[in-house]
Amino acid sequence: MELILRYMTTDAVPGLGLGALAGPRTWTDGDDPMMTLNHGLSGYVCGRVAAPLIHRRSGLPEGLLAFGFLLGAALPDVDALANVLGAQTYFSGAWYGHRHASHSIVGTWVLALIAAAPLALWAVRRREIPWRRAYPWLVLCAWLGGLLHIVGDLFTPRWPLPMFWPLPGEYGAFSHIGWFSPFLLWFFLGVLALEGLIRIAVRWPLRAARWQGFAVWGLYAFAAWRWIDYLVDSRYVSPTQWEAYQHTLLPEAMIGPASATVHALWHWMVR
Ligand SMILES: [Zn+2]
Repeated sequence: MELILRYMTTDAVPGLGLGALAGPRTWTDGDDPMMTLNHGLSGYVCGRVAAPLIHRRSGLPEGLLAFGFLLGAALPDVDALANVLGAQTYFSGAWYGHRHASHSIVGTWVLALIAAAPLALWAVRRREIPWRRAYPWLVLCAWLGGLLHIVGDLFTPRWPLPMFWPLPGEYGAFSHIGWFSPFLLWFFLGVLALEGLIRIAVRWPLRAARWQGFAVWGLYAFAAWRWIDYLVDSRYVSPTQWEAYQHTLLPEAMIGPASATVHALWHWMVR
């Protein structure tokens, strides 16, 4: 577990003067699926908070709306595909390079237009909701998710975003969170698991099913608040400091020992 976390929290970005932070592997948020997962889940969590309101206006299922947020929040890192053409393209600063056009307000809107199409098609086929009603609402959800991705990346260190592309100017690099945050991943996955527990608990033994929607919404509202609070509060100084900081946070403190126990049990069984 500790090894995995060390692996995930060590960063070095060639070409950006971060060679001093070199670790066992080089990666950035774009080419690390865990970071993209964090982005997607932050979109999903915020989407679940907004979904009841959008559902009332659009008539679309809340789960579908939240999934629109998730897709929109994960998609900007599709620019990591530039890596296929080599690191020079990836870090080139060209519009198709990493953290460029796809990480702008216009770029996330274009991505939302694409992401919403299959979701709207699903709504038309499965729920018989007219395209002209489903598509615009799903574009809005995916775009809001994309904007949340930009917010998350503004807080990562040393790589400002051209968020008003094609206009000049770069913003962010607030150095509040590292390239990857194990805490956020554990936290978001924990929230998803808690939703399941709440759904079971309100039916039985609490027998309060009518409070289910409110309880689940409260959970996601808390999670969205905690995500924003974490972005604002945390500080990234170096990989070592960042790793030590992650270890002090609750999910890491809880899951670390649990994972070590499972690991030990597994070894004992297959010995
Ligand atoms: Zn990104």
